[in-house]
Amino acid sequence: MTTQHSETIAPSDRKVVLITGASSGIGAAVATRLVTEGHLVVAGARRTDRLRELADGTADAAARSGGGLHPVRVDVTDRADVAAFVRTAHDRHGRVDVLIGNAGVMPLSRLDSLLVDEWDRMIDVNVRGLLHGIAAALPVFAAQGSGHFVTVASIGAHEVVPTGAVYCGTKYAAWAITEGLRQELDPSIRVTTISPGVVDSELADTITEAGAAEAMRAYRAHAIGPDAVASAVSYALAQPADVDVNEIVVRPVRQR
Ligand code: NDP
Repeated sequence: MTTQHSETIAPSDRKVVLITGASSGIGAAVATRLVTEGHLVVAGARRTDRLRELADGTADAAARSGGGLHPVRVDVTDRADVAAFVRTAHDRHGRVDVLIGNAGVMPLSRLDSLLVDEWDRMIDVNVRGLLHGIAAALPVFAAQGSGHFVTVASIGAHEVVPTGAVYCGTKYAAWAITEGLRQELDPSIRVTTISPGVVDSELADTITEAGAAEAMRAYRAHAIGPDAVASAVSYALAQPADVDVNEIVVRPVRQR
């Protein structure tokens, strides 16, 4: 992970940024980048040991930038848990500026494998989890008269591939929900979708179907690092309040 190119922001630009799925991969890279820039990150996931490692690993950068990282256990499939996550951040910092809905799982399989429990898990994490975050943060953003929703969708929100029917379905849903949110909201609240192509992370580890796992190994051969996604998020956050970056697609040049 490379963070040395990050510039420190002015204290007046410091934001309170909540990230779900911050314990690995893209979420951890985004959290690291934002702390290095000087933002106050509230990092959520279920693996609190990994979140504590992230807090330790970013402590020096936080000391330099004036930012910080606070780990909070959250299971996005639990609506009350997500509400408590947002409340904890608000109580700690007095405001919430950005919610990054990043938590996701991708146990790919053919539909005729009938791995129905895995379909349910993708829907619960990738769709319901995203909605739980929106439900928890919307009233806070409305009361503040400001806020920024960032959804980590996927290239899978734009194209369907075999073994990806349900995963892509959840990402089409994430894209649609985020776009609908953008259209409905007051202009004081910004909405961004980030759609990554194949990125190095632990995402494929949840695949249990042998054929899908094998295909994924070849597919992921040209993966880019998660810092590329962190740069996209950083760019969207750094724009002036009247500029809304609606979507960024970021993928390896070799992924067509
Ligand atoms: P990782 O598997 O490395 O990270 C997934 C994160 O989601 C982990 O931090 C995990 O934390 C969290 N998570 C999973 N289930 C839950 C849950 N129930 N509650 C809270 N957190 C949960 O993969 P990525 O970093 O790649 O994935 C991040 C996002 O990027 C996902 O939405 C994914 O779909 C998307 N994406 C990834 C691409 C890629 O190629 N890597 C491409 C396009 C999109 P924990 O297990 O500790 O709870």
